[in-house]
Amino acid sequence: MLLSRLENDGQPELKLNQMQLDMKVQVDRKVAEGRYVFEEVRCPICEGAEVTVVGKKDRYGLACQTNICTDCGLGYTSPRMTQASYNEFYNEEYRQLYTSLPQADDYYIYRQERRGKILYDFMRPSGVFELKDSLFVLEVGCSAGGILSYFKQQGHQIKGLDLNRTYINFGKSKGLDLEAKAFKDVQLERKPDMIIYSHVLEHVLDINAELELVKSRLAPDGYLYIEVPGIKEIHKNYRANVLRYVQNAHVFHFSLESLVNLMAKHGFELVYGDQFVKAVFRHSEVDMNAAPHNDHEAVVRYLQELESTGKYKYDAFTPRGIKKNLRAAAIDFLTVTGTKDLLKRVLRTFS
Ligand SMILES: [Zn+2]
Repeated sequence: MLLSRLENDGQPELKLNQMQLDMKVQVDRKVAEGRYVFEEVRCPICEGAEVTVVGKKDRYGLACQTNICTDCGLGYTSPRMTQASYNEFYNEEYRQLYTSLPQADDYYIYRQERRGKILYDFMRPSGVFELKDSLFVLEVGCSAGGILSYFKQQGHQIKGLDLNRTYINFGKSKGLDLEAKAFKDVQLERKPDMIIYSHVLEHVLDINAELELVKSRLAPDGYLYIEVPGIKEIHKNYRANVLRYVQNAHVFHFSLESLVNLMAKHGFELVYGDQFVKAVFRHSEVDMNAAPHNDHEAVVRYLQELESTGKYKYDAFTPRGIKKNLRAAAIDFLTVTGTKDLLKRVLRTFS
C-alpha cells in the first residue's frame, strides 16, 4: 500500500458530530452484515486490472480502497459498492454523513449563481458564446440550478437535471426549468450547445455509458464543461491531506491527464483545462483510438511527495488552522466544564 496512514483502522480523519458518527456506524454495520455489497471493477479507461493501492479507508474511516491504474494513471475505487448499494446509501446515509451539503434556500442559489459566473467566464475563451445569441445549456446534476440561473440571466435557454427532488423543487419555485430525472430518461427538444457536469462525474459508476450519452446528445459544434476534484491539487484544496480528499461517494479520482484519456475514448478532445480539475471539451475530428498517455508515475509520485512533506499534520500552524484549533479546544474545554455562558462569550470574541 502506498500510504500507510490510509490503512483501514476504522478511524475517521474528520471530526464527526454525533449524527455523522451514527451514520458511519450504520454504514459499517451494513457492510459487516453484507447488506452493502462490494464488487471488483477494472479501470474504465484502459480495462486494466493492475493497480497501485493508495489506501483502504476514506475520510470518515469507512472501508474504501483507492487505486491508481498502473497502465493509465486513473484513480478509482475497487472493490466498490454496487449500484444498488450506492442507491440505498444515497437515500439513507449520504446527506447526514456529508453534512457540508447545503440546504435548498435563497443563500444557496445565490452562492451557486456566483459559481455560475465563474464558470461562464471560464467558458468565454472557448468561443461557445459566439455560436449563437441564445445557447441551449444543459446541466446534469444541477442541484437547485443556481449555475444555470446565471446562464439564464445572460439570455440563454437552460435545462437542469438532478435526482434530488428537494433541490429540484426549490429551483423550480425560482422559475428555473429543472427536472428530477436522469440524463438517459429525459426527452430534449434539441441538442444542447453546452453540457455541464460540475462535481458529478466522480460519482457516476457507469461513467462510460454516461459519456456515450453525452457524445450522442451534445450538438456537433457544442462544448462540454467538466469539473471534478483534481488528484494533483490536494495540496491546494484539501489542506495537503490525501485522507481528506478520499470519500466513499467518489469512485474516480482524476488528474487533467486521466480525464483527457477518458474523454478521448469517447471521441472528445480537450480545448483547455487545469488540474483543479476544470476542463472544456468538444467533439474531436481525429481518430482517438491511440493508447492513453500513462499518468501513473506522475500521480503516484505526487501522492508520495505530498505525504512525505507531512503538511497534513501542520494545518494547525496556518493562521486559519490556529484560529480553528483554539476555538475547538475552547469549545471542548468549556463543554467539559459545563460553563456554557462563558463559551458563548468566547465564541463571540473569536468570531
Ligand atoms: Zn487504466
